[in-house]
Amino acid sequence: MAELNPFKIAQRQLDDAAARLGLDEATHQFLREPQKEIRFSLPVRMDDGSTKIFQGFRVQYNVARGPAKGGIRWHPDETIDTVRALAAWMTWKTAVVDIPLGGGKGGVVCNPKEMSEWERERLARAYVRALGPLIGVHKDTPAPDVYTNPQIMAWMMDEYEAIVRESHPGVITGKPLPLGGSQGRGDATARGGLYVVREAAKKIGLDTSKATYAVQGFGNAGQFAALLHDEILGGGKLVAVSDSRGGIYNQNGFDAKKIVEHKLKKGNLSDIKEADPVSNEELLELDVDILYPAALENQITDRNASKIKAGVICELANGPTTPEADDILHDNDKLVLPDFLANAGGVTVSYFEQVQNTYNFYWSLDDVHKRLDHRMTCAFEEVYETLQREKVHPRLAAYLVSVSRVAEACKLRGWV
Ligand code: NAD
Repeated sequence: MAELNPFKIAQRQLDDAAARLGLDEATHQFLREPQKEIRFSLPVRMDDGSTKIFQGFRVQYNVARGPAKGGIRWHPDETIDTVRALAAWMTWKTAVVDIPLGGGKGGVVCNPKEMSEWERERLARAYVRALGPLIGVHKDTPAPDVYTNPQIMAWMMDEYEAIVRESHPGVITGKPLPLGGSQGRGDATARGGLYVVREAAKKIGLDTSKATYAVQGFGNAGQFAALLHDEILGGGKLVAVSDSRGGIYNQNGFDAKKIVEHKLKKGNLSDIKEADPVSNEELLELDVDILYPAALENQITDRNASKIKAGVICELANGPTTPEADDILHDNDKLVLPDFLANAGGVTVSYFEQVQNTYNFYWSLDDVHKRLDHRMTCAFEEVYETLQREKVHPRLAAYLVSVSRVAEACKLRGWV
């Protein structure tokens, strides 16, 4: 089986772009590795009085275009290489939507589902204490990712402000609204992805109002993709959805709102009426028009890529498709809307949140939506124009746009 280490995959993707761009050796090598990374041990007092030591990471991949930006993932399978890959993809993501930020990412090896609220709060605060002066509005600003949420961001911001003894709401994004969060941050990742699907559908002549779709992973990104389909794509039929425990399928379609309510109330997808079970693997191979991978990395590989039937694959997750699978999908005329373009809505509204924090002046929801739509539509157009001109698959086209921007910033600084 092909290499599934996400960082090795991120490096291979960059190598392809560097070769195509004719990037000089120094710039290529510089962009292949993080500029800075930190690994730390976090002792946390548990509710039973014991002390547990958690492993934490923060990677500041590239800051040529601005301060590092990227979420914090809490997951039992977290590794430094996953964080490195996610930080690299953040670098290309902020570049493709052309916002003045670099790329970073953080992680903690833990299972928040098995922790109490108090334990999660102590872990969030310990993480920020360990990072201390290494983060900051002009250095590196975290945000939520898998299994972290606005409440965790609130504790982190509070801990940071306690350390520096000043108000710095922009140090963390994805905060709750009363603490300087932005309108529209909650659904921004999915919303941005659906704007990209809308634009792609115009190019390939897909009527999204009649399209069937399946969603793998039913958290922030996946749930809002289902909830916003009607508003942004004029309809569509949700036929399958899954979470870490497996999925459900009904060819007649589900009411997205009801499924989300059930998941939020019960925490799972079991007991939903008129639904057949479907595994996460089977879901990917369903005969649908649009597939939304919205869970984790390495879901579409050389093993199953040739069995994917969806015509459009909108990657809300980071790294769901391996390079071998990209080639197979491209050969089979499947349109992949690559992760760091398709899911850039989240970081774009995080950037809007920081702008509002800096000005201490807050925008309406309508303002946020219009600005997000504009950024995502422009980014899609640039990538689409590049893929047509260069005759490459969409991920490579997105890399060509982003890497050339980051490389130019590194050169202008005199780094390479
Ligand atoms: P989340 O924690 O809100 O939800 C994750 C979901 O994935 C949960 O429903 C979980 O049950 C499911 N899941 C976990 N392991 C799974 C597996 N093996 N198979 C199927 N489902 C599984 O996380 P999220 O914020 O929605 O993030 C999902 C993906 O989107 C990640 O790749 C993340 O990096 C990416 N992403 C999120 C944002 C954001 O703003 N939240 C932004 C950009 C990219």
